[in-house]
Amino acid sequence: MNHNPQPLLAERLAALRRRIGAAAAGAGRDPAGIHLLAVSKTQPAAALRAAAALGLRDFGENYLQEALAKQAELQDLPLAWHFIGRIQRNKTRPLAERFQWVHSVDRLAVAERLNAQRPPALPPLDVCLQVNLGGEATKGGVPPARLPELARACAALPRLRLRGLMALPRPTPDPRAQRAQYAELRRLREALCSEGLELDTLSMGMSADLEAAIYEGATWLRIGTALFGARRKGTV
Ligand SMILES: *Cc1c(COP(=O)(O)O)cnc(C)c1O
Repeated sequence: MNHNPQPLLAERLAALRRRIGAAAAGAGRDPAGIHLLAVSKTQPAAALRAAAALGLRDFGENYLQEALAKQAELQDLPLAWHFIGRIQRNKTRPLAERFQWVHSVDRLAVAERLNAQRPPALPPLDVCLQVNLGGEATKGGVPPARLPELARACAALPRLRLRGLMALPRPTPDPRAQRAQYAELRRLREALCSEGLELDTLSMGMSADLEAAIYEGATWLRIGTALFGARRKGTV
């Protein structure tokens, strides 16, 4: 297809910014503290280029090979790349070398490899720990009970900068249930902060539940479909 995706994208982005602004106002928050991560999995490089032309700079990818191919195609643009997918232990090097953020660290072996592989010429890698709030067997994430130990160990790794927590909660259309899940992540961060860790980040909120996440203190919203439209069938 040869159509220009940009007008539709611009409309979706404007609508998204209105949603974010309304929720921030309702929550009494400064929208400047709520960052937009454009989740671009399954989207072609041209869609990211169109989004970048509208001022978006931070892109979130779930699949390493797909991300690396897009990075190669878009290297003329000053983008920041965030990895938000499942991490294979033996595929950490490109994450350490080519990403600014990794949101989905959930075990120490992966954190230690990222720390060892982060190139000295780059600043420390910004990381979030992914928490498995609902104990879902099919999802990654550290169980809340094991989070403090992992957080302390990661905070001690000099080539990582532990920024906060990330969650991918069970989808539910009930706004109160959405907020309850995000409130749990907020409380987990507060507990770590009260132990002395300096965590400034809550990576939470997607297209369907960003309002709940904003009310509970999200600092990075990870938005895919509300920006790029529906993903192709059969893709995650
Ligand atoms: C796909 C994905 C998103 C975005 O989901 P949408 O509902 O399309 O906004 C956010 N976070 C993660 C980890 C994802 O895999």
